[in-house]
Amino acid sequence: METTRVDEKIENMDYSYFINALSSRRRPALTRELTKLAYLAPKEAISLAEGMPNELTFPFEQIDITMKDGSIMTLKGSILGSALQYIPTQGYPPLVKTLKEFTYKVHQPPNWENSELLVINGSQDGISKSIEMCIQEGEPVVVQNPLYAGIEIIINPYKSPLLAVDQDQYGMVPELLKQQLENWKEKCLQDETLRMPKIMYINPTGSNPTGTTMTLERKREIYKICCEYNILILEDDPYFFMHFLDELTPSFLSMDVEGRVLRFDSFSKVLSSGMRVGWVTAAKPLIQALELHIQSSYLHSSTLSQSIANGLLQLWGFDKLLEHLEEVTAFYKARRDITISAMEKYLTGLCEWTIPAGGMFVWIKVHGVGDVYEMLMNRGLKKLITFVPGHAFMADPTQACSYIRASYSKAAPKQIEKAMKLLGELIREEKLL
Ligand code: PMP
Repeated sequence: METTRVDEKIENMDYSYFINALSSRRRPALTRELTKLAYLAPKEAISLAEGMPNELTFPFEQIDITMKDGSIMTLKGSILGSALQYIPTQGYPPLVKTLKEFTYKVHQPPNWENSELLVINGSQDGISKSIEMCIQEGEPVVVQNPLYAGIEIIINPYKSPLLAVDQDQYGMVPELLKQQLENWKEKCLQDETLRMPKIMYINPTGSNPTGTTMTLERKREIYKICCEYNILILEDDPYFFMHFLDELTPSFLSMDVEGRVLRFDSFSKVLSSGMRVGWVTAAKPLIQALELHIQSSYLHSSTLSQSIANGLLQLWGFDKLLEHLEEVTAFYKARRDITISAMEKYLTGLCEWTIPAGGMFVWIKVHGVGDVYEMLMNRGLKKLITFVPGHAFMADPTQACSYIRASYSKAAPKQIEKAMKLLGELIREEKLL
């Protein structure tokens, strides 16, 4: 039976192997633990325990937010009081509850009984804390190449080798992952100071910068390899709902019978990036360690942002939220189509690209220009167009790179068309230099 199999596997997982010495020395602050009492204690209990300011002294009376559809979300009275107050580190309890329901509904994680969820300041925050929780100086990390630029800057100070696994149009290639791990294992056998990797970072949907979306088969193969080599999977999936395929591809979390996936979700791309609300779902011991990390830094993510997110989810319910996610996806899909047709018109023969299957980026390989950096940063700027040179996303950014990342998110359709025309001119001019 599936449940028995899951339970057996979980019992076998030794999370202390993944949590580094520094993180495992963290202890909960009793005062933070007591913050939970405000939500758990019976209403009639008299509390002289809480070291919270009295919200009656705060100057805000009511916050009304008018939605684009005309509906109004109002935070007032005790709800506003809570929205302005300290909360347990895990997150604003009503939001945590709603996010749990949502995560279960979408992913049905097989390890749900042993999982927890923690609200974070967007996925970047959770990913950096997770990496910091796991690795020690010099320990390797498996990453996809090209790689979201926000990851290299987390790992860099650890002087950790990046075991970079190349992507094709469906993302990280399992055979190459296996090959990297075998090669590294060989090195470990020859040098006893080296360690096998404990974590892998992956961005499976509408990947930044490549726009690729992994297939289910790919995910299954990669999951299997991670089980074989005892690696935790950091599944960074902010574009999960922004995919342009007929159906959602099930997440790594949804196949995680062993409790080795930390899944990072974020409202950044679909509700507001400035609100800084995301959440991580993972096995309880991992969430507990992450929670202690937050306890010792910012205490908890902004209650006001979490209350707004929760207010919205209450106002809308999941069905309206899913409708909204479909509208967001349709917006980006239309922009993607405009971008690709402009590229076909102006860049055919000069460049090649994979049509993005999600997200907001297209990854362009320029033919006949060995390194695009100067072209973009110097002459491109003079033409008043900006793109990110591919170097920013390569495991080794010091190498020459002929790739460009173009984002079709913010520029208006006419601007996208113009930018691609200018890029075509720029490349032609560069070749004549
Ligand atoms: N991961 C990826 C792949 C991203 O593209 C971004 C944002 N550019 C982030 C994480 C950070 O997102 P958040 O705002 O949720 O921290």
